[in-house]
Amino acid sequence: MSKQNISFYESVNLNFDKASKLVDLPKGLLEQIKVCNAVYQMKFPVKVGNQIKVIEAYRVQHSHHRLPTKGGIRYSTHVDQDEVMALAALMTYKCAIVDVPFGGAKGGVKINPTKFTERQLESITRRYTTELVRKNFIGPGIDVPAPDYGTGPREMAWILDTYNTFKNGEIDSAGCVTGKPVNQNGINGRNEATGRGVYYGIREVLSYEKDMREIGLDPGTAGKTMVIQGLGNVGSFAGLISQEEGDIKVIAVSEFEGAIYSEKGLNVQKLIKFRKNTGSIIGFPGSVSLPNRDVALELECDILVPAALENVITKENAPRIKAKIIAEAANGPIAYEAEDILLKKGIIIIPDMYVNAGGVTVSYFEWLKNLSHTRFGRIEKRFNQNTYTNLVGLIEKMTGKVISEREKLILTKGADEIDLVRSGLEETMVEAYNQIRLVAKRKKKVQDLRTAAFINALNKVGNDYLNLGVFP
Ligand code: NAD
Repeated sequence: MSKQNISFYESVNLNFDKASKLVDLPKGLLEQIKVCNAVYQMKFPVKVGNQIKVIEAYRVQHSHHRLPTKGGIRYSTHVDQDEVMALAALMTYKCAIVDVPFGGAKGGVKINPTKFTERQLESITRRYTTELVRKNFIGPGIDVPAPDYGTGPREMAWILDTYNTFKNGEIDSAGCVTGKPVNQNGINGRNEATGRGVYYGIREVLSYEKDMREIGLDPGTAGKTMVIQGLGNVGSFAGLISQEEGDIKVIAVSEFEGAIYSEKGLNVQKLIKFRKNTGSIIGFPGSVSLPNRDVALELECDILVPAALENVITKENAPRIKAKIIAEAANGPIAYEAEDILLKKGIIIIPDMYVNAGGVTVSYFEWLKNLSHTRFGRIEKRFNQNTYTNLVGLIEKMTGKVISEREKLILTKGADEIDLVRSGLEETMVEAYNQIRLVAKRKKKVQDLRTAAFINALNKVGNDYLNLGVFP
């Protein structure tokens, strides 16, 4: 096979092989971790207009070392078994890296969602869910889907409703899927979670002065330039939050219809609105159009954020990439053959299995909320607020100073669900990066963060298996 034809799944496995040489785990155990445990390919009919269309779909459970398994559902014409297996495998490693106690899984439906009406998409989603129920491939303790490319809270609500028609009265049924609308057993902060996690990951990497000096950057996020590919769920929140909380300048955005650039920086919030109203990013006031959508990837910038699909940076365009840092918001955006070219140029690659793990982290919080049947903060918020108010009163009394009403409000505020979700996500992303960085710095043969992340994941999953007593 020519090297050019390395598939996404093979890419994931080649990265696995590279890291597995650097861990101290039995060969058979590594083989068990690597393979997909269950692959379900289905074909089902759906009525589209007055025709019957046969839909091809998948659900892959990569690892049963912890249950339930977890992973999003993708709607795209690129979906095939290889892609879903690759994405499911990445989910296992991702969950391990952020200490989310699930095995990895992924689903895919081979359709272009923009070519179907809302009713037709609902039929497809409900039928897909029915197939999963029939084969016992969904359930709060079995396998829990979530949104991915081409799907969102609307599809997750249809999945829950369909599941409930089969499992009427199952007390934890709301935990059969995450990423649901907040008013339908979802959680505040899930929609933004992957993009927010991408920002926390970038911020963490940028915070290490020594690492940044090595690539010619000052530490810190403020004033750094960013280019984003894909202004969907992940790309738009990553851009918005980087701009608002990190003072990062988004200088270019690429979408299906083309790419735009502004040296002064694009206002991401206004750009999202503009695209919603006009259907395109082209013509956004203050921007210039680039010759085509792919050249955006090759622009001079501090941080490149590919947030669309896999294999967009290949050995062809890798030599032309000028970014200092690439944050893999999408899954698998860098083809295996491109990786060495980028690393030799001194580019820091923040790997997908770490930097886009914010979504599964908050999905885990949503699942916990569903199982506990109460929202985070409900029990303690008022109690904390009263305690803080008493403390502030005491400080005023003891010091004789008056604290302003505005300051009092800030000091005495009890945490809402969104505060707790963001704080849990931030803690997770910071802790996970520090674990990965430590491996990268301590292990002599580890040159890159992806290998370090893999080593970290393999050790955790391997230990789980060893603790299960499955391996001697
Ligand atoms: P999305 O469908 O919301 O958005 C993807 C966007 O990319 C779309 O707007 C699409 O038009 C654009 N796009 C596609 N091809 C492009 C190209 N060649 N150039 C420029 N733009 C292009 O999908 P999403 O949920 O944001 O997912 C994006 C990536 O992030 C996927 O790889 C997905 O697996 C990964 N991811 C998503 C989540 C999540 O919570 N949604 C979590 C982890 C990882």
